[in-house]
Amino acid sequence: MMARQYGARKRVMVTGGAGFLGSHLIDRLIERGDEVLCLDNLFTGTKQNIAHLLGHERFEFMRHDVTIPLYVEIDEIYNLACPASPVHYQHDPVATTKTSVHGAINMLGLAKRTGAKIFQASTSEVYGDPIVHPQREDYWGHVNPIGPRSCYDEGKRCAETLFFDYHRQHDLRIKVVRIFNTYGPRMHPSDGRVVSNFIVAALKGEPIPIYGDGSQTRSFCYVDDLIDGFLRLMDSGDDVTGPINIGNPGEFSMRELAEKVIAITGSKSEITYLPLPQDDPKQRRPDITLAQNVLGWQPTVALDQGLERTIAYFAKMI
Ligand code: NAD
Ligand code: UDP
Ligand code: UDP
Repeated sequence: MMARQYGARKRVMVTGGAGFLGSHLIDRLIERGDEVLCLDNLFTGTKQNIAHLLGHERFEFMRHDVTIPLYVEIDEIYNLACPASPVHYQHDPVATTKTSVHGAINMLGLAKRTGAKIFQASTSEVYGDPIVHPQREDYWGHVNPIGPRSCYDEGKRCAETLFFDYHRQHDLRIKVVRIFNTYGPRMHPSDGRVVSNFIVAALKGEPIPIYGDGSQTRSFCYVDDLIDGFLRLMDSGDDVTGPINIGNPGEFSMRELAEKVIAITGSKSEITYLPLPQDDPKQRRPDITLAQNVLGWQPTVALDQGLERTIAYFAKMI
């Protein structure tokens, strides 16, 4: 059954909408006139992230776990529900896999019944500890299936499989994005990811915790750039399914990141070296040729600029 249309307004559901990325996405959807249903079990997300939207006539919040079936009428689904920080996704690894896999099945079943277009927030983690560098979408990855990161990596990989099988088997309109490390305001201060950890430590004058020797690299995308890529992908033609990398190709070692955070905050914090977690990827950088060619997308915010904005947010909060 096709979803009913109420005037020209699109009814969009964002799962994980009270999280870091979800709340920024919802801001953009509301801004452009969509009706938004924010679905979240508040595991890592907070009502604070959406507090400014409560009471808005086109915004609705529903506390719900995506592993449980859901029957609503909707035109588009952005499936973002999943803890994203290693600390959080390893807290209850079985729940993490269930969220990715059962959550994907339920949301795909919902999309199948309503005819909704459906977007999946996949991740650069599907490439694992990559041997091919930078990572292109046709690289199949180097993933440990039984390690501490597997609940997340394999859950997300299985979700991609489900998306493509529902597409092939049931003609679902799918959009799969592989997100590379993204940062910005509304990251949870105790979220455990590197950018928030470094900024919070620097602002509190506490030691900056580098895991390992800090030579491992990541590519950091500012949240506004990422959301711009999400919207371009969702609005692209039905033949564009992805998977498509969205990320900033600037590549930095964790030592370089720590030095930048210290310089911008003017902090007196020193760097402290802690053990490297198991299976921590040594390098990561997106090849964004596909996003450039197909979506006309590329990031516009440099790391220093984005860090300044993020530091300003945390400085107000702390
Ligand atoms: P986040 O933890 O801030 O947001 C995830 C949201 O999902 C939270 O609000 C959480 O409460 C909710 N959630 C978790 N399990 C749920 C469940 N079973 N049912 C309903 N809601 C549930 O993280 P984020 O950075 O905003 O990540 C959003 C999505 O993007 C995730 O799917 C993540 O895997 C993906 N992603 C993020 C990054 C990044 O760098 N931020 C990188 C790659 C992929
Ligand atoms: N589902 C849902 N909402 C819907 C339709 C389906 O949550 O509006 C869930 C339901 O739990 C189902 C799953 O999605 O098990 C997959 O649906 P599908 O139609 O693919 O399979 P089936 O119903 O045959 O299991
Ligand atoms: N990291 C670090 N200090 C921290 C948190 C993370 O040095 O306080 C390192 C971590 O070991 C990894 C990189 O920073 O090499 C990125 O970690 P994050 O958890 O942000 O994301 P992911 O590993 O999933 O890319």
